[in-house]
Amino acid sequence: MAKQLEASVLSMFSLISTRHATKTEQDLATSNTGVGPMALPQPRAGLMDIPFYEGGKSSLKGHGRVIKLSSNESALGPSPAALIAYAGVASNLVRYPDGNAAALKDAISDVHGLDPDQLICGAGSDEILCLVCRAYAGSGDEVVHTAHGFLMYGIYARSVGATPVAVAENNLTADVDAILAAVTDATKIVFVANPNNPTGTVLSGAELVRLRESLREDIVLVVDSAYAEFMGGSCYDGGQALVESTPNTVMTRTFSKIYGLASLRVGWAFAPRSIIETLERLRSPFNVNGAALAAASAAMRDVAHTRSAFDHNLRWMGAALQRFRSLDLDVVGEAGNFVLPKFPNVPGKTAADADAFLQSKGIIVRRVANYGLPDHLRITLGEDDEMEAVLTAVTKFMGGDDG
Ligand code: PMP
Repeated sequence: MAKQLEASVLSMFSLISTRHATKTEQDLATSNTGVGPMALPQPRAGLMDIPFYEGGKSSLKGHGRVIKLSSNESALGPSPAALIAYAGVASNLVRYPDGNAAALKDAISDVHGLDPDQLICGAGSDEILCLVCRAYAGSGDEVVHTAHGFLMYGIYARSVGATPVAVAENNLTADVDAILAAVTDATKIVFVANPNNPTGTVLSGAELVRLRESLREDIVLVVDSAYAEFMGGSCYDGGQALVESTPNTVMTRTFSKIYGLASLRVGWAFAPRSIIETLERLRSPFNVNGAALAAASAAMRDVAHTRSAFDHNLRWMGAALQRFRSLDLDVVGEAGNFVLPKFPNVPGKTAADADAFLQSKGIIVRRVANYGLPDHLRITLGEDDEMEAVLTAVTKFMGGDDG
């Protein structure tokens, strides 16, 4: 019996290998056209035009310890309570996490005063941006975003067959009139990051309201507030009031920035119930893992830690702006946990030269040429010693005194 089985397996194998051996390049070429019976799988039209998203570098050849200021991660790291909660999950990895993220929604609801039924949690706010595209845009539709907006808007739009429409900004700031002028009958979603990454500029609450009021009702406005927690002042609410007062606005938030949990991939959104119910149908059943849920809930509740991270950021934002401007480097945006100085287009002093100089000192910042900003560098505000190092290095690079 075993012998018989072995013989038949062997003969099957030899049949398969003969088929492969006799397949000519011509056959393969025919099958690749997609018309032959042996056609290979082909991605949907347009998918191969999607550019790869490149994250910030984290290592440099020849440098052991680097100063990584390339991904807008938190300077102070996560709350100690989040780390304890994270460790606590280790004893229960056998169980699926709560697919409804109830404890995390409760924490968000308690801290922000929001209805938990109007919340959705995702594997990073990235996932939620993608869900919005999957739910509301498709082939033939248009998705509007600002010219220097977060790169994933265009990528997710293309992933569902929609066309991204990049709208010119005004002095690196979202321009409501230009956005409205770009809207067509095919527009389904408008993305505005507020503050915007990488420009660090902000649209006022009044301008956001004007945008929403002037957009057609069937267009979803996504206010991406990934950097909301770095904003001070009582006038800014991340888009919360707009979500509460309109049936078609979504506010997205993340635990990757001020909460220092980028590695765990957790984000959330506040939206009208009808939109939440739509997005909930599309997400994977256990999209946020157990460790992420536990750590994020604890991080959200540790308001004192968030406050320290805010204070640290504010202090270094002031120092960085002052230093760069004293070096005659133009900086427009002042929000977020990063700065975006513009370097002169003069040989030896360009953004590329500055980047190379900083790398020679073991400092990694972000080139933003792929955001259409070849003369700028985005520098995340890091820890005290990291900030001292990067400000000293940029000062030296510009030929100033490094004090
Ligand atoms: N929106 C903006 C404006 C961002 O800068 C980022 C992260 N770079 C995200 C969304 C996504 O963040 P995450 O998926 O880590 O929540």
